[in-house]
Amino acid sequence: MTNRKAIRPDLQFINHLKENGGEDVKKCFQCATCTAVCSLSDGEYGFPRKQMLLAQWGLKDRLLEDPAPWLCFYCGDCSKRCPRQADPGETMMAMRRYLTSQYDWTGLSRLLYRSVYWEIGVLAAVAAAIVLAFTLPAGFGFGLLSRSGPAALSNVMLDRFAPVGIVDLGDRIMAVTLALLLLSNAARMFAWLTRDDKIPLRFYITQFPHLIVQFLTQKRWKECGSSEGMRNWVRHLFLVSGYVIMFTLVVVFLPWFQVNDSSIHWTSLLGYYATAVLLVSTAWIVLDRMRKGSGMHRFSHFSDWLFPILLLLAALTGILLHLFRVLDMPMPTYLTYMIHLVIVVPMLVVEVPFGKWAHLLYRPLAIYVAAVRSRAREYSGDELTAPSRLSASA
Ligand code: SF4
Ligand code: SF4
Repeated sequence: MTNRKAIRPDLQFINHLKENGGEDVKKCFQCATCTAVCSLSDGEYGFPRKQMLLAQWGLKDRLLEDPAPWLCFYCGDCSKRCPRQADPGETMMAMRRYLTSQYDWTGLSRLLYRSVYWEIGVLAAVAAAIVLAFTLPAGFGFGLLSRSGPAALSNVMLDRFAPVGIVDLGDRIMAVTLALLLLSNAARMFAWLTRDDKIPLRFYITQFPHLIVQFLTQKRWKECGSSEGMRNWVRHLFLVSGYVIMFTLVVVFLPWFQVNDSSIHWTSLLGYYATAVLLVSTAWIVLDRMRKGSGMHRFSHFSDWLFPILLLLAALTGILLHLFRVLDMPMPTYLTYMIHLVIVVPMLVVEVPFGKWAHLLYRPLAIYVAAVRSRAREYSGDELTAPSRLSASA
């Protein structure tokens, strides 16, 4: 089913892994304790021992065609039990960062994951563009406000400060651009994963529900590790529901969401739910990372901090904006609106196609490819492997 080509090792691979947070891969002496304790590893997709070996040998091309790094949900059980403190859980995480940077054809992801200065610099550059758009005399925002007379300074008239038509158009352009970037990176990932597979199309069609179900639910996470798996999965599910609802309100329903009156309507109810969920779950994640209590929060790469912190700030500024608007305080409303966008837009532009957010698509895609391979193998019976749970249930 697969046609293996000779693959040359990348002698710099361990260094690249280090740059992405995988410091201890050399300590592994291949005892396989980690694979034995991993609750998601099975007879067909045994990990993380094999991936530790591929990393030690610098076989990055093998890792590029291996879905296993994405089958790990980072419970940390393997790291707790590793007799050599090789931290296989964090190494799998570092592999996912490395792979994300390889899928990205622009090369930006590589720079962002390797350097906190690049990450902060790119976020700051996008933020500066937003500030300019609001503050330049010829632009909208304060420029428009100064041209529109004193009325908008005595009462909140958000539509004068940030005309909904302009913001709506900007949102849609941004959403289409981000989707194209993310999908093109996902297409590269898919091409790598399947480049040596000779699997008939019908298996891709019959296993397609895996992609949809895993994308919507990430439900494999609840099987990950001991008691924390279920808790982390539920929290993640709420978090995703919060920002999917908020993203949809802003990109699709902005004319019904950004309204001048402060009465309660269906968009505001959804907005309240999304804000509450974002606030609680991101604060909880940041606290968990500070406490370093659970396996998955013991080590935090700077990219692990940025996403929840930016989401938390987005929720807080969203609440402040709403309060100032309800209290009819014009200048605080306008300023908070600008600050809110200064946080939200860079977060989306940087994190969705190039950063941590992308795992929401990459992980289901890898699970899908793994399920397709398992199903095809079971059907053809060409290898005596234990059946994989991946092809058994979507
Ligand atoms: S990572 Fe640790 S537990 Fe896993 S094979 Fe290596 S030494 Fe053994
Ligand atoms: S972190 Fe958890 S899911 Fe990932 S390889 Fe280790 S034991 Fe398995």
